[in-house]
Amino acid sequence: MDPDFPSARGAPIAKVDALSFEYPGSRALDAVSFEIARGSVTALVGPNGAGKTTLLRCLAGLAVPLAGAISVAGVDVLEEPREAHRRLGYLSDFYGLYDALTVRQCLAWAAQAQGVPASSVQAAVERTAGRLGLADRLPQPAGALSRGLRQRLAIGQAIIHGPELLLLDEPAAGLDPEARHALAGLFRTLRGEGMSLLVSSHILAELDEYSTHMLVIRDGRLVEHRALEREAPGEAAARRLRLRLAAPDASLAARLAGREGVSVLEAGEDAALVAFAGSERAQAALLSALVGEGLAVASFAEARENLHESYLRTVGHAGEGGP
Ligand code: ATP
Repeated sequence: MDPDFPSARGAPIAKVDALSFEYPGSRALDAVSFEIARGSVTALVGPNGAGKTTLLRCLAGLAVPLAGAISVAGVDVLEEPREAHRRLGYLSDFYGLYDALTVRQCLAWAAQAQGVPASSVQAAVERTAGRLGLADRLPQPAGALSRGLRQRLAIGQAIIHGPELLLLDEPAAGLDPEARHALAGLFRTLRGEGMSLLVSSHILAELDEYSTHMLVIRDGRLVEHRALEREAPGEAAARRLRLRLAAPDASLAARLAGREGVSVLEAGEDAALVAFAGSERAQAALLSALVGEGLAVASFAEARENLHESYLRTVGHAGEGGP
C-alpha cells in the first residue's frame, strides 16, 4: 500500500477482506482485499468484465459472496445488511425510476424505503431536491425528465437517507458533457459534506476531476489501490512541477539543475518537468528567480498525475504478468 495512504487518519469507511464471488462456472472476484479511507472519492476502474459491478453489489449487500468479509462504517454487511443499508447509498448501472411518479413521490418513496422516519420524510425530500437542483421539478413526473435530471433523481434516491458511503456504478454513462460536469461538481460537494464515494466509470478524464484514490481491478483481482494526489499540497513534500517557456532557451536544464529542492525529470529548450521538494513559498521564490534570470516563463504549475496514463500503465503491467 502507498505510504501516503490516508487511512491512518481514521477508521476506514469500508473494509473488504479476501472477497471472492462466483457466478455459476466463473469466478468474478478472487480474494480481493482493500480499505477505503473516510472522506475519499475512489475511482473504481478496470476493463469490461473485470468485476466492478459485482464488487459494488457485494459492498451494497445485494450479492452474497463465496468467501470473505465486508464492512461499511464498521457494520458487517453480510451479518447485518439492513444496518449496513442505512450507512450506504447505491446507484446501479441500470437503475430504474417509477416514471409515472412525480419527482416528489420518487424521493418520498425512496426515503420511506430507506427507513427515514415518516415525520422527517418531507424535510428529507425538500433538502435532497435542493441539493440536486431538482427543487423546481418536484411536481413533474420522472418520465418527463431529461437523462441528466433522471440521473440526478436516481442519485437523490440513493442519498436521501444521508449515507456515509455512496456507491455509484457508471453514473456518467450516456450523459452529455455539461451534465457530466455538473455530476462531477455534485460529487465534490458530497465529498465536501463528509460523504465517501466509490465510483466506477470508464470515463477516466472525468474521474480525474474529482477522485482522490484509484482502485484497479482486472480479471477479478485487485491490481492497484493508491492515492492519486497528496492531500496537503502546501506541505514541504516533493511534487512534480511543469514549466513552459514562451521563448526557447537552451540553458533551461542547466539553470534548473543544482537548485535547492529541484530534481530535473525531463527538460528540453522550451519545457521541463521537475520534482520539487519545498514549501509553496520556496516554489514562489524559484519562479521569481527563473523570471529574474530572464526566462520567458509562460506557465509554472503542479503536474497532477493523469489517471488515464496511470491506469493504462497499471493495466498494461497487469496484463504482462497476468493470465
Ligand atoms: P463492465 O465494465 O463491462 O460493466 P464489470 O467490471 O462491471 O464489467 P462484472 O459485470 O462485475 O464486470 O462481471 C464480472 C464477470 O462476471 C464477467 O466475466 C461477467 O461476464 C461475469 N458475470 C457478470 N454477471 C454474471 C451473471 N449474472 N452470470 C454469469 N456471469 C456473470
